Amino acid sequence: MAARPAHTALILGGGVGGIVVANELRKRAKANDRILLVERNPVHVFAPSFLWVAVGTRRPDRVARPLRELLRPGVELALGSVTSLDPANLRATIDGRGITADSVVIALGAELSPESVPGLAEAGHNFYTLAGATALRDALARFSGGKVIVLTARPGYKCPAAPYEQAMLIGHALKKRGLHEKFAVEIHAAEPAPMPVAGPAISEALRSMLGAKNIAYFPNRQVRTVDAASRTIAFSDGTSTSYDLLAFVPPHHPPAVVADAGFGGESGWIPADRATLQTRFANVYAVGDVAALSLENGKPLPKAGVFANAEARIVAENIAAQWSSSAATARFNGHGACFVETGGSRAALGSGDFFAKPAPAITLRAPSVFWHLEKVLLEKRWLHRPPFSFI
Ligand SMILES: Cc1cc2nc3c(=O)[nH]c(=O)nc-3n(C[C@H](O)[C@H](O)[C@H](O)COP(=O)(O)OP(=O)(O)OC[C@H]3O[C@@H](n4cnc5c(N)ncnc54)[C@H](O)[C@@H]3O)c2cc1C
Repeated sequence: MAARPAHTALILGGGVGGIVVANELRKRAKANDRILLVERNPVHVFAPSFLWVAVGTRRPDRVARPLRELLRPGVELALGSVTSLDPANLRATIDGRGITADSVVIALGAELSPESVPGLAEAGHNFYTLAGATALRDALARFSGGKVIVLTARPGYKCPAAPYEQAMLIGHALKKRGLHEKFAVEIHAAEPAPMPVAGPAISEALRSMLGAKNIAYFPNRQVRTVDAASRTIAFSDGTSTSYDLLAFVPPHHPPAVVADAGFGGESGWIPADRATLQTRFANVYAVGDVAALSLENGKPLPKAGVFANAEARIVAENIAAQWSSSAATARFNGHGACFVETGGSRAALGSGDFFAKPAPAITLRAPSVFWHLEKVLLEKRWLHRPPFSFI
């Protein structure tokens, strides 16, 4: 009979946050501590590269790897779906089987729901999934001219830079194909400005980057319906616009299993202490996109892999400390960075302190080949063996 583990960590969700918690905790915990990671998808995909897949500069199979290969030996992987959560009793149900742990980390990410906007799913390409990015690549290859629209369906999506990057990459790819005067790229955004959480100066810098690339920008547009037959998008302010090719960021929702678990909070995302990621339940943590962390200006911390990674390290360090009866002193400091691909193998870099008072203090470094190559390096290193720093 196998010896009882000294402690068990139940990590729910094997994306960026879950992988890092599992690997870091395995590194720090004792051999007889059990690290159990639950994930429904056996293949891990590196989402930042979807933007390259969509413009044909990355093959889809080059941004995916079996999850098992990304985990340290000794991390137990349970492939299955989390079907219910009982945080007060440190318990979850995986495909009908109940598991109780000493520490629970919820890293279930965000659910995407294109179907919540009538007509949207049929009308365009959801480049927030690998399948959607691949379909967009194929549609762009067939595209011979007209209007490309990049649409954000609702504010509050992960990686606030991504749709802006995607628009610039599409513009660059079409120019490179010689389509020049035959196409236009427009962004119709649900949010009031590009990356509004980073402050007006960053928004303005991004707007001028778009302007320099002749990408028209229409903020504050809430899509109501999309009609694939007439290729028309209707907005809630009564306006509408036509398109020839549509790429979209779908609405994001908290995972359904989280909604009924009693975490509180109006948004449905899990409120957590922004320094320790502890939820209102003892020994239950939320990391990454599923967590709601408040900034000094009252806005939520953006959803991004860079934060999921940093938060995961803090949680792993503190759980390991607690298990060895040491003080859990690690604190997440809100620092993060994000590449902004601008096309032509160049990227800008936004970075800074998101916990700064009275508002995030972020700077944007000018586009260069250097930052683009840094992102390429990150992709290679992440898919080789995380956790590496993730920006
Ligand atoms: C196009 C694109 C570009 C991006 N670019 C960047 C970038 O440049 N920089 C950056 O920092 N971030 C970027 N991001 C955001 C980044 O990918 C996410 O913020 C990050 O993956 C969040 O990590 P997470 O662990 O919280 O969630 P995820 O990585 O989404 O992982 C959640 C996991 O939980 C699993 N899961 C969900 N529900 C269940 C269930 N019921 N049972 C079992 N498993 C379940 C999912 O299958 C998934 O694997 C980008 C995202 C996209 C889509």
